[in-house]
Amino acid sequence: MTSSQGSAGGGAAGGPGRGGAPPEAANFIQAIIREHEKSGRFGGRVHTRFPPEPNGYLHIGHAKSICLNFGVAQEFGGLCNLRFDDTNPTKEEVEYVESIEESVRWLGFDWEERLFFASDYFDQLYAWAVQLVRQGDAYVCDLSADEIREHRGTLTRPGRNSPYRDRPVAENLDLFERMQAGEFADGSRTLRARIDMASPNLNMRDPVMYRILHASHHRTGDRWCIYPTYDYAHGQSDSIEGITHSICTLEFENHRPLYDWYLERLGIHHPQQIEFARLNLSHTVMSKRKLLRLVEEGRVSGWDDPRLPTLVGLRRRGYTPQSIRAFCARIGVAKFNSTIDMSWLEDAARDDLNARAPRVLGVLRPLRVVLTNLPEDRVVELDAVNNPEDPAAGTRKVPFSRVLCIEQDDFREDPPPKFFRLAPGREVRLRYACIIKCEEVVKDAGSGAVVELRCTYDPATLGGRAPDGRKVKGTIHWVSSAHALPAEARLYDHLFLKPDPEDVAAGEAFAAGLNPDSLQVLRGCLVEPSLASAAPGDHFQFERLGYFCVDPLDSGPGRTVFNRTVTLRDSWAKVEKKQAVAPPP
Ligand code: ATP
Ligand code: MG
Repeated sequence: MTSSQGSAGGGAAGGPGRGGAPPEAANFIQAIIREHEKSGRFGGRVHTRFPPEPNGYLHIGHAKSICLNFGVAQEFGGLCNLRFDDTNPTKEEVEYVESIEESVRWLGFDWEERLFFASDYFDQLYAWAVQLVRQGDAYVCDLSADEIREHRGTLTRPGRNSPYRDRPVAENLDLFERMQAGEFADGSRTLRARIDMASPNLNMRDPVMYRILHASHHRTGDRWCIYPTYDYAHGQSDSIEGITHSICTLEFENHRPLYDWYLERLGIHHPQQIEFARLNLSHTVMSKRKLLRLVEEGRVSGWDDPRLPTLVGLRRRGYTPQSIRAFCARIGVAKFNSTIDMSWLEDAARDDLNARAPRVLGVLRPLRVVLTNLPEDRVVELDAVNNPEDPAAGTRKVPFSRVLCIEQDDFREDPPPKFFRLAPGREVRLRYACIIKCEEVVKDAGSGAVVELRCTYDPATLGGRAPDGRKVKGTIHWVSSAHALPAEARLYDHLFLKPDPEDVAAGEAFAAGLNPDSLQVLRGCLVEPSLASAAPGDHFQFERLGYFCVDPLDSGPGRTVFNRTVTLRDSWAKVEKKQAVAPPP
């Protein structure tokens, strides 16, 4: 199912492009914070945090959380921390930490000096665990992981008490101390909270607080061989940092009673947890586990493959931070889960790039055009508008000469109805140049493929002048062959065929859902000479073709690779597609 997810209180009707963004109503989180400001809870302070686990690269869903946490802090004159919840040494890496920091900064947010790690709190968390043992609120349990699961019960069946649940405090203290000292093997013992094995909330059935794991941590090295669980560390880390509003996704709603329990038993600062719906996007996967799988199985070129919804991938594809922030503002924040259609994200890119991207001429699949009435040595420098949306962007010169290239698609030997571009005997306007007429079609003797069009140009129309009010319906783009630069273009489509690939079970089906045409590489492209100065990451609108960005990794001296960020919103192109125009011969 694909539906829109509006701001709290109202669905955003319709898709993007029709009437633009939904009105930005105050979301329910802002409403809660306003209430707290009024009641004086937290003394008027607002302090949030973005708490990634460094076990993968950030994706567009994280961007929603980043925009929300940093955005709320900005709006209320508060602060937002960046904290890594690095409690699992086996899955976490420095590479991820660095990339996450870079992505948050790239998105445009600043945690100033407030960069924290849950691992910085390991000593405090340990001391608090000892306190809970002393209070009789935690015990060392000798059950294996499987046995704990088996004792846990189900939603309809209460759990059973561990036989170790009533160990005397002194014995628990001694065993926990020795767990910490490294006396016991991995998995042989755990520290568990002593809550209620009959609780209807499974999270409250004596959850594990510490597990033994003889593994090096990317920050604490071999200092520890016991590690706190996420559920034990997360709330206390928020508390240590004086967080007021601990914003997280809906799946943590039934962990809240557990977080509250720890904070109350310890008698420490108690943030307000607020849950919101995570972002799901159509035609892609978002969970780090699945993204990692795509990377490890070589289905994509890496975490920054432009087809992935990772922030490094979107950036390489040509998405700007502004477009991603605008997208996050448009989709709003709600309490119910839904899937946003990918076209919302694409539309945010168009809106942003329309304003900032210079227009250029480039031909993806060139077809040679010879203007028989233009002398060979003649070059006319024509004026072209850099950005009609931005008069300050000015104009540039584009060379025009006897031999040009146009798009193969813009010629039909046997044009269908309503095809207003070039065909034998027909006229078309060349953007910024003049009207040309197709006089002769040259074919390859062997294959019969059209290899050249011999045309005449109308000198009276050169430079955009069209005398006699003459109407020529089609305008096409072109480049001058002798002046054009070679380029490679990469065109992208959805990574998955179905809108909801997350539905697909594990195993082969996952790969079977991939779109075999998600990447199209075109090597023989030609672009106008002004692009000689294009730098990695620069954005352009190739007229009629879409927005493109210079690939920062694969471009280099003598090689320019353009990633297509998104196509143009081009209604007549769609009309022609519907008429099922045959591909060029
Ligand atoms: P994943 O399921 O992709 O592995 P995660 O929740 O395990 O994500 P974390 O590193 O724990 O990833 O997430 C950091 C923060 O980002 C958390 O507060 C989490 O709730 C939030 N977040 C993660 N995914 C999304 C999403 N799709 N939409 C909104 N927020 C998200
Ligand atoms: Mg997580």
